[in-house]
Amino acid sequence: MIDFHCHLDSRDFEQDLEDVINRALENNVKYLVCPSVNINSSLKVIELASKYNFIIPLIGIHPHEVKNLDLSYSLDKLRYLIETNNFRGIGEIGLDYYYDENRIFKDKQIAFFEKQLELAEDYNLPVFIHIRDSFDDVYSIIKNFKVLAIWHSFTGDYSQMEKFLSLGGYFSISGIITFKNKNKQLIEVVKEIPFDKILIETDSPYLAPEPFRGRRNEPQFINVIYLKVCEIKGISLEELEKNIDFNFLKIFKN
Ligand SMILES: [Zn+2]
Ligand SMILES: [Zn+2]
Repeated sequence: MIDFHCHLDSRDFEQDLEDVINRALENNVKYLVCPSVNINSSLKVIELASKYNFIIPLIGIHPHEVKNLDLSYSLDKLRYLIETNNFRGIGEIGLDYYYDENRIFKDKQIAFFEKQLELAEDYNLPVFIHIRDSFDDVYSIIKNFKVLAIWHSFTGDYSQMEKFLSLGGYFSISGIITFKNKNKQLIEVVKEIPFDKILIETDSPYLAPEPFRGRRNEPQFINVIYLKVCEIKGISLEELEKNIDFNFLKIFKN
């Protein structure tokens, strides 16, 4: 199994990261895709990737982080880090209007998002996108870029799924699919996602799946989400793994 999105650089893992990683390996997790949320986090993630060859490092500035950052300074840093390290993708980046309820720094979020999409285009790197209450803007921006895009922790409706699919996008399913109160509509949409566009993630340490909801999440729980998707799509674990392994190779072919 592959965890397509886990924040192993998070403070929540400071005390026992090795145990967390070992538990993942013992539970048949082969790769851990680790996004960054800012420059510091990018440095931590690249350090992890140099220690563990099954960690796939992503570089990027999360929309929650942009408020106090200078755009051109941050971009210079990102560019330098990409040039000097072996990052495999840009993420996580995107727009979050839920977090920025009064749209106070909406323009700044958009500027960071567009510039990081440019980086992805320049370096031919896949992008891992955070979308919250912001689909229309994300869609109208991203369609101007030639990038391979992954919608991380996908929670869209059917028409959003179709639009994103028309751009060649991938959908990464998180533990939200197991949450009893809000998964009904999502399950119907996930049924329709083609197998060659589906991925699975934990978003650790956040979004622990049922029955671990509310606890710290960690990559070993990815199997719960795999099994839920198997149930929804009516296929065996072996078959789902084969599809996702194949998608992994396509995304990280460079
Ligand atoms: Zn996110
Ligand atoms: Zn995340």
